Amino acid sequence: MPWLASFHRGLFSAIGLLAMVTNVMGKDSADLLVVGATVVTMGADRQVIDDGGIAVRDGKIIAVGNSAELKDKFDATRTLQGDGAVLMPGLVNAHGHAAMTLFRGLADDKALMDWLRNYIFPAEAKFVDEAFVRAGTRLGVLEMLLGGTTTYVDMYYFEDAVADETAKAGMRGVIGQAMIDFPAPDYKTWDATLAGTEAFLKKWKGHRLITAAPAPHAPYTVSSEHLQAAKELAAKYSAPLIIHLAETQDEVENSKKQFQATPTVHLDRLGFLGPNVIAKHVVWATDEEMLILKKHGVGIAHCPQSNMKLASGIAPVPQMLKLGLGVGLGTDGAASNNDLDMWGEIGTVAMLHKVNLRDPTVIAAREAVAMATIDGARAVHLEDKIGSLEIGKEADFILVDVTAPHVVPMYDVYSHLAYAVKASDVRTVAVAGKLVVDDRKPTTLDPVKIVAEAREYRDRIRTLLAK
Ligand SMILES: [Zn+2]
Repeated sequence: MPWLASFHRGLFSAIGLLAMVTNVMGKDSADLLVVGATVVTMGADRQVIDDGGIAVRDGKIIAVGNSAELKDKFDATRTLQGDGAVLMPGLVNAHGHAAMTLFRGLADDKALMDWLRNYIFPAEAKFVDEAFVRAGTRLGVLEMLLGGTTTYVDMYYFEDAVADETAKAGMRGVIGQAMIDFPAPDYKTWDATLAGTEAFLKKWKGHRLITAAPAPHAPYTVSSEHLQAAKELAAKYSAPLIIHLAETQDEVENSKKQFQATPTVHLDRLGFLGPNVIAKHVVWATDEEMLILKKHGVGIAHCPQSNMKLASGIAPVPQMLKLGLGVGLGTDGAASNNDLDMWGEIGTVAMLHKVNLRDPTVIAAREAVAMATIDGARAVHLEDKIGSLEIGKEADFILVDVTAPHVVPMYDVYSHLAYAVKASDVRTVAVAGKLVVDDRKPTTLDPVKIVAEAREYRDRIRTLLAK
């Protein structure tokens, strides 16, 4: 009697009434039930439930609570036993270039310009086409899903192909089409870039997993006029707007010379900033600039490991958090990290700012975990959909095994999540209620094929660079 079920759901959603009604009428239905886990909800009250779980229907969370209550209330098509695991929201990687996994370890420990000019640019010019981007995206998505990342923000070329691969893998993505003022592997002119990006936004509008976005590369590679055009395009499609901002000290100095303003002030003057903007890195920002970003509701993607490896500097993250900015964590591309492991970023953000400020109390474990979940969701402007285990949100969740020697005993769950858990501890991953990693096995991707493809690219790229 479906009308009766929806009548119940509509009118008797209060827990007491629901319990009373279901006792009389039988159990409510769910597609999936997870029970027996330590639940880290990351909701506003940061509730942790010792022996608990969630119920999922139509890809959304319909209940969060203790195991006995859930089992009492719901008849589920499938029940996952979370014994010995932490159930938590999937991780949000707020900045990356997934296809660059194919350049992983190509050249390390170089000065930025040497690295770009002699390694990355020649390899990109020769190899980056749609097939490359598809193969690299599959590898990046596979790595991220296996490590518990359920949402990522991308910026690269051929992003329609990136969106396609991401959707096929069942992952969630904010997929940013790079826009840049010089000929790129996909579009050779600005007009073509603009038209292509608009077609891309139109095509993916309303997709459950994919949020398409224009991604002007940076204020130093895109003219003022083109930045404004990108902003208008984002406004027209109610899309996010992704940009690299204030990554290096050189960028700030050059901006002052060229525009008589820092990159942030330059974007503010152009009217570029707004509550849909996701700014990457923001290493070099003054207090005044952080207030400008806050005023406009700009989300920040902090990439501690990439900033360390490229020696870009240390972003003023504790200050950003104090001011109430939405700050998430990003891996950046695998060419400058060299993995897409968000657990590494959580541990790094918790430690980097402590040593920098000589203060072990800054960015405590729980705050670092929040940056990879609910605060990350806020930074990428998806906080009403993801980032916490709460009723009504998309069922993007992970089960993290905490039975290996490096994660026992457990006194405090946040401590483990920030300082001890590794990507290989992730056991199960769901996006919109669909299991994309089931007991460590990917259900949508073929790891053997993806790894073989990546090795083939390595052989070809190495041959080219040896010439
Ligand atoms: Zn980047």
